[in-house]
Amino acid sequence: MASKVRVRFAPSPTGYLHVGGARTALFNYLYARKHGGTFVLRIEDTDQDRNVEDALGGILEGLKWLGLRWEEGPEVGGPHGPYFQSERLAGYAEAALRLLAEGSAYRCYCDPEELKKKREAAMARSEPPKYDRTCFRLAKEESEARAARGEPFALRFLMLEGETSWDDEVRGTVTFQNSILDDLVILRTDRHPTYNFAAVVDDAAMDITHVLRGDDHISNTPRQIRIYEALGLTPPRFGHLPMILGPDGTRLSKRHGAVSVTAFRDDGILPQAMVNFLALLGWAFDGEREMFTMDELAEVFTLERVSKNPAIFNYEKLDWMNGEYFRALPLPVRADMVASYLRETGSLPEAAYHDRRFLERAVEAVGDRMKRPRQFLEYAGYLFVDQVDPEAAPWAELLAKPMTAARLKKLAALLAEVDPFEHDAIEKATRGLAVSETVKAGEVIMPARIALTGKKVSPGIFDVMLLLGRERTVQRLRHAAERLEAGSPAPAS
Ligand code: GLU
Repeated sequence: MASKVRVRFAPSPTGYLHVGGARTALFNYLYARKHGGTFVLRIEDTDQDRNVEDALGGILEGLKWLGLRWEEGPEVGGPHGPYFQSERLAGYAEAALRLLAEGSAYRCYCDPEELKKKREAAMARSEPPKYDRTCFRLAKEESEARAARGEPFALRFLMLEGETSWDDEVRGTVTFQNSILDDLVILRTDRHPTYNFAAVVDDAAMDITHVLRGDDHISNTPRQIRIYEALGLTPPRFGHLPMILGPDGTRLSKRHGAVSVTAFRDDGILPQAMVNFLALLGWAFDGEREMFTMDELAEVFTLERVSKNPAIFNYEKLDWMNGEYFRALPLPVRADMVASYLRETGSLPEAAYHDRRFLERAVEAVGDRMKRPRQFLEYAGYLFVDQVDPEAAPWAELLAKPMTAARLKKLAALLAEVDPFEHDAIEKATRGLAVSETVKAGEVIMPARIALTGKKVSPGIFDVMLLLGRERTVQRLRHAAERLEAGSPAPAS
């Protein structure tokens, strides 16, 4: 009987949760759910020089925000703990010393500076910078005598000749010639393990059945397989997820925009949208359907449909997808999100939006145009200020049309009287004016839009008038007409 699926996400606390890491975590999580397995979180924190304070907090926060709950790991514990590698050091040393005793590893006394020079010299000769096995050639007695004298040493893994192959869950058969693989250090002079060694010891100890990780790790896999074999262990299945590229086809990095999960969250991306978007980075359902909830993903996710080809991180698509999720939220929830955004950023005084009903009406009027809360002011900011400062380009268009001021005045006069001041009556009056002026409705509506909102794009103009109310509408139309008559330029915007 096949063993129960156990997968893990194994971040190093060296920085924020990158979207690439989040995608790896998500695929592992989905695979576990799909197969009724267990998703383990393990923290690879043995490289103290690279650990960043608080990085762990950010990673856990990002995973929780995405809804990627781990069944075993930090905060929740579990039967295979501890889940921090820094708390498992004795086990690595013990396993490494076992390899030493069995002849699969050897002591290396080489000075790091010396090794660095040798590596640089090899690279200058265009040769692979492999360890030259100086210490492998030491006589056993000498190696032991130096250790007995207390000379510090690292342990290196003895890479055998031949080749290493595995059947990758994503890429099919992958084969490496061992000749290109180094005798890698498995235990440093400070008794800390290196990544490849600790990962093997832990994946085995934690009964991991499938290692799904980014394909930047593909050349580590043959090394790890050899270590499993030397330790007398059966390797898990491996699957390497395709690289994530930026829109320009280079590896996704900060140059392209936000890359940390929490930065997307702070920028108004919804977790449902982020999850859906990440799922499509290197996986597809049928090439057509794109919208999936987490539960749906957990049902349909398969490794067969993970692509070998790099995935492109398309920021516009994420924005679009966020819009789909955002507009599906109930109005009060959207209004809450807008209010928290306004409060957190302090972009408006609280008094300006404390009228909850008004805020909801404004959010409703903005409707689909808003894909994330921060776009609210772009489409509705003019509702919360006393005076609008029109943008320069639309204002210049109005100035260029001599009839505009007179028309805006007429519209103001009509709207001052229209009764009731309601959507249909306002619309009728406005369109009626266009008819009597023998112009298209747009010739009245566009100038009114610019006068009321300062912009050429806004929610429906009659909704805007209703939100502003009769008094402010009439006042803004008149004010704009007067400024046009005076030929006054718009303030630079
Ligand atoms: N700590 C490694 C990393 O963050 C884990 C790689 C793996 O999944 O084996 O890249």
